[in-house]
Amino acid sequence: MAVVKNPTVLRRLRYGNVERVLQVLRRQGPSSRADVATATGLSRTTLSAIVGQLLADGVVTEEPAGPPSGRGRPVHRLTLNPRSAQAVGIEVGRERITVAIANAAHEVTAFAGTHHAQHSDPHEEAGAALDLLRDLASREGIDLAGLGGVGIGTPGPGDTSDRRQTVADTVSEALDVPVLADNNTRLAALGEAIWGAARGSGDALHLTLSYGIGGGLVAGGLLFRGAQGAAGELGHISVDADGPRCWCGGHGCLEQVAAVPALLRAAGRRSWERFTDAYAVGADTERAVVDRAALAVGRALAAASSTANPRRIVLGGEVADLGPGFLRPVEDAFRRYTATRVHRDVELVQAALGERSGALGALALVFHESPLLAGYATADAAAPEEAAADHAS
Ligand SMILES: [Zn+2]
Repeated sequence: MAVVKNPTVLRRLRYGNVERVLQVLRRQGPSSRADVATATGLSRTTLSAIVGQLLADGVVTEEPAGPPSGRGRPVHRLTLNPRSAQAVGIEVGRERITVAIANAAHEVTAFAGTHHAQHSDPHEEAGAALDLLRDLASREGIDLAGLGGVGIGTPGPGDTSDRRQTVADTVSEALDVPVLADNNTRLAALGEAIWGAARGSGDALHLTLSYGIGGGLVAGGLLFRGAQGAAGELGHISVDADGPRCWCGGHGCLEQVAAVPALLRAAGRRSWERFTDAYAVGADTERAVVDRAALAVGRALAAASSTANPRRIVLGGEVADLGPGFLRPVEDAFRRYTATRVHRDVELVQAALGERSGALGALALVFHESPLLAGYATADAAAPEEAAADHAS
């Protein structure tokens, strides 16, 4: 479950109309107030109040369309201000905080990241994220006054966690906007599906192989969570019937075979750097350990794909960064253990967004699910394609 700080009904209603106006400007480009009134069906009084607020917040600008022709006042056009922030995505990871800002045209306009101490207090984490956001906005000349929503990703189970709730509440109060929050690996899956390696594929599986193994399932372009928010936990698919009990409650989980600590343990190494150095020069032990992990990952992906039938599978994290020597046997095992119909058109690809994936996924979460921003996008789902087709023709 995502953590949602709900806006008041009045605010939701008001922002619903605001979003209608912004959507017209997004689709039609610069437009006169009369054009916007026609397209939205809003009354003159309502539109005038909304435009007044949008101008005051710097979300739109209003300029004469050209020199006056003939008699009367020159026509003015409303234009989206690209330097105004509409949504913010934040990832508070284990060691880094990253922030991405998008404007009302849904363009990502700024990104920043900073190191932070592991296991710090959630209030401090929220404070550090807010400092990073405000510094970034001021450096890039971005106005935060028209902000409509914030998405936040943090580590931990996909369902509600106290720590995540504290970070979300602190940010929501400081910025006075609704905040949506979820597991950061799952948001990375969404980020890769919208902006990265699985872009345009609609149905995608994502696996992050790091010190733990996290995953995410994107179905029809949306994050799939499941009944208890545990969907896409690919690291806890059991791959060893006789394996030891895992912290999750299961036995023989993929994470115990293919995450960084498991590889280090199996090879008798203490540092990942030493492990990768030995692997790179072809050490037998490291090669065998990686082959065994790749087989387990391939089989887990086969099981998940037989259920979800993705078009693309994205692999990220330190273990995937081992490159083709790991990815090729993963793909071989994946194909060997799936029906032809399931694997025929599937592509296995390496994650493309790196440290940006979590913050970008948090941004996508806001645009897809925020109670203020998403209402019209959902009710009018064909809009972005229509707009793209209009521009193409
Ligand atoms: Zn487990």
